[in-house]
Amino acid sequence: MKYINEIIKKAKIYGFNEVAYLDVSTIKLMYEVRDMCEDNKCNKYNTNWSCPPGCIALEEGRKKLANYSKGIIVQTIGEIEDSLDFETMMEIEEKHKKNLYELYEIIKEKYENSMAFGTGCCTICSKCTYPNEPCRFPQKCVSSMEAYGMLVSDICKSNNIKYYYGPNKIAYTSCFVIK
Ligand code: SF4
Repeated sequence: MKYINEIIKKAKIYGFNEVAYLDVSTIKLMYEVRDMCEDNKCNKYNTNWSCPPGCIALEEGRKKLANYSKGIIVQTIGEIEDSLDFETMMEIEEKHKKNLYELYEIIKEKYENSMAFGTGCCTICSKCTYPNEPCRFPQKCVSSMEAYGMLVSDICKSNNIKYYYGPNKIAYTSCFVIK
């Protein structure tokens, strides 16, 4: 528990608004969530190594996660004018991802087998090499929770952290698993 507490402290320093313990046994990887990626509402399907169909297969993800028991959930929460305030949403998401990528590097210094699951596709490179060349930075690449098949609202509920903060707020949720 000591190492998880250290990481929680660091997550707060890195600017996340809410941080909670994650019990990895509450993570269920579902084909239904992966299938939603195919609807391509985000226009990222089949464009990035971190997203379906280029990312890890669901069964392989299950095998990988079976080696982990603990982790943390991190959230960045921001105010928006309304549900069409996409500019502010993108700014908040960008801040969330920047903090996530930076904290991931810090966590890996001590726990090199840790894994991060973010929001949206991987934006480490300005242009992803998918599908013509291999990923430039497989150790840094971060898939979204959904790309692995995780239903974020369920995971939040099971780990006692809110998912929805009200009509004029948006929360970006990500997580780390650590061993
Ligand atoms: S690290 Fe670069 S090449 Fe790899 S998935 Fe992310 S954006 Fe694509």
